[in-house]
Amino acid sequence: APSTTEEMPAGMGPRGAIPERFTRFDAHPGYQQIAMMRQGAAQLGLTDPFFKVHDGNAGATSVIDGRQCLNFASYNYLGFSGDPRVNRAARDAVERYGTSVSASRVVSGERPIHGELERALAAAYGVEDAVAFVSGHATNVSTLGYLMGPKDLVLHDEYIHNSSLVGAQLSGSRRISFPHNDASALDALLTRHRGQFERVLIVIEGLYSMDGDVPDLPRFVELKRRHQAWLMVDEAHSFGVLGDHGLGLSEHFAVPTGDVDIWMGTLSKSLAGCGGYIAGCRELVETLRYLAPGFLYSVGLPVQVAAPSLKALELMDEEPERVQKLHAISRYFLEQARHMGLDTGHSIGAAVVPVIVGSSPLAARLSHDLFQRGINVQPILHPAVPEKSARLRFFLSCEHSEKQVDGTLEALRFAMAESAASPTN
Ligand code: PMP
Repeated sequence: APSTTEEMPAGMGPRGAIPERFTRFDAHPGYQQIAMMRQGAAQLGLTDPFFKVHDGNAGATSVIDGRQCLNFASYNYLGFSGDPRVNRAARDAVERYGTSVSASRVVSGERPIHGELERALAAAYGVEDAVAFVSGHATNVSTLGYLMGPKDLVLHDEYIHNSSLVGAQLSGSRRISFPHNDASALDALLTRHRGQFERVLIVIEGLYSMDGDVPDLPRFVELKRRHQAWLMVDEAHSFGVLGDHGLGLSEHFAVPTGDVDIWMGTLSKSLAGCGGYIAGCRELVETLRYLAPGFLYSVGLPVQVAAPSLKALELMDEEPERVQKLHAISRYFLEQARHMGLDTGHSIGAAVVPVIVGSSPLAARLSHDLFQRGINVQPILHPAVPEKSARLRFFLSCEHSEKQVDGTLEALRFAMAESAASPTN
């Protein structure tokens, strides 16, 4: 312990007199940030838009606060969460295997469903093997954190998900971001830095969830080849969404899956479960299965979340019309929104369509007003995005109808007109 005031961290008094800001949780900068946000919302007469309670399955519609709402915040892209066949798979699995595998699969063993799910994921990607972790976030943290090291370099899109950032930080490797979807900037970084590092990993996403846009995969593949780097694609939002059969970014661009070194995805969205996966060559997957901390030192997937994802994969193959419906309704939403003159950014109209309104208070107000009209859509506020690109983010599902989209955009038009007329915004 420090014995003199000189040796104490800045701001500390004599021994024993630790300022309260270092001992109280309400003085933590995180808590202060939340308190400020709540204060701002209260001043505008808005309720907290987060942690809404859905009393039932959340799909294209959902019961929130006892009211049936149109729901654009489900991430249930293919409507498999709530599908009776998927529910049954979860129930059957629990009845046969119980509710928990209790410990790591490495030591306490696995259930047949684990291998079946991983083989089905590998088959969907047409790669040698896959491994499933307990969450998508843990998948990225563990995979990046384990594979990369202090002599390595991670180059990532500036909009990459927090889980990849945390993984890259954990790995101790050098980390440099490149401007969103800018392959030329990445090329320049690779030219400049490749020679100074051992392994180099490029991390991009299949469909960016803030903007609903996609990277130019063929271009990234060409770069990773030329610079002898690995390419990792996070398909949390693109698997089940892109391509005629929902097989993701590779299908969207007709690029062979073998051109990407590491495919990552989540089981929680299109696949109606919970967990994440890595798919790729046998050596990659085996390394992770035996050594990635989030797999080795963490419990295996509960069967009741592995089984629904396995069922959803099967159904995705049998019912490609779900993917086509999702494409059609997303494009319809995008076209109608653009027709109204709304700013939808770079969205390609695949499951995610932002409506950029340009200020956080306005985005919060519109979300609040739409909710009063029975429409649930989340605002994305600064600092999640720059203030001038604060937005409403609409997640489409294959179960939304054109009529629901028309009604929603009409309600949005009213809410925007009202806000424009109101002095508070
Ligand atoms: N990657 C991306 C791009 C995500 O958006 C998310 C969260 N939705 C994750 C990873 C983490 O996945 P999970 O929610 O399954 O932990």
